[in-house]
Amino acid sequence: DVVVVGSVNADLVVGVDRRPGPGETVLGSDLATHPGGKGANQAVAAARLGGRVGILGRVGDDGHGALLRTALGEAGVDLGHLLTTPGPSGVALITVGPDGDNSIIVSPGANARLTPADVAAAREMIAAASVVSFQLEVPLDAVLAAARAAADAGGRVVLNLSPPAPVPDDLLALCDPLVVNEHEAAFLLGERSTDDPEAMAGALLGRGVRSAVVTLGAAGALVAGLAGTTAVPSPKVEAVDTTGAGDAFTAALCLRLARGDTLEDAARHAVRVGAAAVRSPGAQSSYPAAGDDLPT
Ligand code: ADP
Repeated sequence: DVVVVGSVNADLVVGVDRRPGPGETVLGSDLATHPGGKGANQAVAAARLGGRVGILGRVGDDGHGALLRTALGEAGVDLGHLLTTPGPSGVALITVGPDGDNSIIVSPGANARLTPADVAAAREMIAAASVVSFQLEVPLDAVLAAARAAADAGGRVVLNLSPPAPVPDDLLALCDPLVVNEHEAAFLLGERSTDDPEAMAGALLGRGVRSAVVTLGAAGALVAGLAGTTAVPSPKVEAVDTTGAGDAFTAALCLRLARGDTLEDAARHAVRVGAAAVRSPGAQSSYPAAGDDLPT
């Protein structure tokens, strides 16, 4: 159904009362190590929901790499193109403050070593997918090569512009949809950005994408396409931890598109999966399984 081309990171999380300044040391809580990375989160979320899912990515030959491989495998993700690079895996160093606010440093490690040659080796898996999902935590030349390979084979390209970075127009032209939150939309629109999410969703089409989805946190999402812009509200839930909610949303969207839903119907399902993912702590650990009751 879905192939994810993207990052695989270990999230190293420490709670702190306050963050250290330059030259300063503070004591934090016990370290928690969770499987993460936008690519792996999406792959796990889509597989949990019952999709046939493959990932193209790289981990290091360290202990984190072994943990990350296990987490993907246990979720049922095809690991045939999860490659191992000598050296460290990608890690996200995360401090969580007293208000639950995150500060994050990502060290890409093995993710930075994903190449167009890796894409060429995975061509068969990419060509067989109905939907190929991308984010921007792996090198842009690999993303471009894989998006072209997917489109050439008749696959649907979904790009999450996260973290926000400039991308060439010919990549935008393949996106159906481009998935962005409000910050990423504002980044892409630059001077043409506004405070009105609906205007922003429409303006994204002006950047050449075939369709666009703007996620709005608790407010749900906007779907923009040829037929205009539609608001898709999210179910109301008690938000405990929004980490990885966007990845769950995108994964659910991709899976439903792969199964033939319209973009709007897929988004109506995806907001429910996104809302389910904020109800408990963590990213992958909070993702619903096929058959679970989703919030309405
Ligand atoms: P990102 O994490 O990429 O910034 P959002 O915060 O927009 O993405 O969240 C993605 C989706 O997750 C939303 O469209 C919504 O369905 C769901 N979601 C996020 N936060 C909440 C919340 N507080 N309550 C309900 N649903 C939420």
